[in-house]
Amino acid sequence: MAKMNPGDSRSRKSPTWYVAGAILLLSIVALLLPGVLRATGFSGGNELMLVISAKGQVVYRKPFKDVPEGIIPVTGPLGVTQVEVAGRKVHVLHSPCDNHICMNTGWIAQEGQIIVCMPNQVVVQLTK
Ligand SMILES: [Zn+2]
Repeated sequence: MAKMNPGDSRSRKSPTWYVAGAILLLSIVALLLPGVLRATGFSGGNELMLVISAKGQVVYRKPFKDVPEGIIPVTGPLGVTQVEVAGRKVHVLHSPCDNHICMNTGWIAQEGQIIVCMPNQVVVQLTK
């Protein structure tokens, strides 16, 4: 009766603990990171921006609070769309399009709101 297993060869403990610890740490970092970035202002994404595009190109981009009241002319394929800013709101005052959907959209004032003039390829949006 020969035992093939010489001595007491206990396998070393697998590094499960280290892996679990690392995963836990990474999860915590991943959870906290956006908050930390926001708190330090690192991301710079807290400011409401007025962004106006024409023909797919951004032609105007400014923190909404810094946008002076008045009319911003935006030139599209059909002519000039007049974007008016007043009282912390923005709307399309006049546009050379024929359906005037953009003008009928009315005023926008909050993040995520958007005015689109498809015929004149003008997009007015408030974003962060
Ligand atoms: Zn329009």
